[in-house]
Amino acid sequence: MHDQQLKSQYSSLGISAPVLQFGEDILATLTDRFSAIDQVAEYNQLKVLKSMQECQVREACLTGTTGYGYNDIGRETLEAVYAGIFHTQDALVRPQITCGTHALALALMSNLRPGDELLSPVGRPYDTLEEVIGIRPSKGSLAEYGITYAQVDLLPNGSFDYDGIRNAVNPRTKLVTIQRSKGYATRPTLSVKRIGELISFVRKIKPDVICMVDNCYGEFVETVEPTDVGADMAVGSLIKNPGGGLAPIGGYIAGTKECVENAAYRLTSPGLGKEVGASLGVLPNFYQGLFLAPTVTASALKGAIFAASLYERLGFSVFPDSKASRHDIIQAVTFGKPEGVIAFCKGIQAAAPVDSFVTPEPWDMPGYDAPVIMAAGAFVSGSSIELSADGPIRQPYTVYFQGGLTWPHAKFGILKSVQSLADEGIIKM
Ligand SMILES: *Cc1c(COP(=O)(O)O)cnc(C)c1O
Repeated sequence: MHDQQLKSQYSSLGISAPVLQFGEDILATLTDRFSAIDQVAEYNQLKVLKSMQECQVREACLTGTTGYGYNDIGRETLEAVYAGIFHTQDALVRPQITCGTHALALALMSNLRPGDELLSPVGRPYDTLEEVIGIRPSKGSLAEYGITYAQVDLLPNGSFDYDGIRNAVNPRTKLVTIQRSKGYATRPTLSVKRIGELISFVRKIKPDVICMVDNCYGEFVETVEPTDVGADMAVGSLIKNPGGGLAPIGGYIAGTKECVENAAYRLTSPGLGKEVGASLGVLPNFYQGLFLAPTVTASALKGAIFAASLYERLGFSVFPDSKASRHDIIQAVTFGKPEGVIAFCKGIQAAAPVDSFVTPEPWDMPGYDAPVIMAAGAFVSGSSIELSADGPIRQPYTVYFQGGLTWPHAKFGILKSVQSLADEGIIKM
């Protein structure tokens, strides 16, 4: 194919020659990083395949069950495949787990009892967890059940406050929750290695404490997962990385037999546990999505690094910066003015396969203290492994960008955001 052919294809989709050239110049500097990402994807593809083969995934696994879902071979095999990938004794992978917050709430509520204390040694947890824990009062929170919460913030330089953690651990400390991704905070995302160091430290103080990792956005970014470095549970959402863009719903908990059993009894009912829960028709998407997840995550990761490099060169502050090593797929870009956030999101929306013709606008979303703008044109509603962006319209006017099922689409979306900023006169090409 001629270079010219590709250029005119981009041009027909509204990308000007200077924007495309700017993108190509940046891309030329990213060859080494991209090949490192491809290598991780290659390793993880084999990891997933190996577990599927060892568990003897067969055609019968792809048909679902209805009603009670007894003896659902597809569901049971898939849970064994997850356990194989995460190197855990067991796993719970269900469409009845509605989202990441639900999976985390389930893991916490099923493994904590009244009188126990939950400790976060990595600062404030993800927004939605505040209501689960009861940091913000909420019906049915852990606090309502007499489960207390303690928190130790990271030190200003991002390192663990080991003294603070040692002081916080007490006889009631039952479970330690560690969030891998920074989410929408501005602390660094934790590498699996650092998570392992933290777990070892906590275990030295209290050997029987349960260590849970909120693994959202982190799956398959590295060759190891938190359960490889001592976590009792890794918990996440299937409409993020491990669903590969195909899972239409679902969450997972991979962990020790004891922890997973507790979660299963809470999800269904004491006495029933993992034995029930019809898979309906979602198993082909769960299996195929998991199979694609390593390369889909790699595409999203390339998009994040490409965006960081472009916007850094354009003079905006980006987090993580273009050189930082990556442990999740989220990229923040700070524009310093609302017009930047809005133009960025318009560009992402215009690049979508679904709803590309709509214009996103800031609105007063429940639970937020400022209007929020969101760009998403996804096959699965709310899916953030698909190309998407959002940002609150408040200082410092930062947009959060993530996802991209394929690298060419992530690339196009980012070029489209740059084009949108150029068209609005916010940047000069
Ligand atoms: C997305 C996310 C959650 C919550 O998942 P939902 O599916 O949105 O409920 C929790 N923790 C982190 C770090 C996340 O990124």
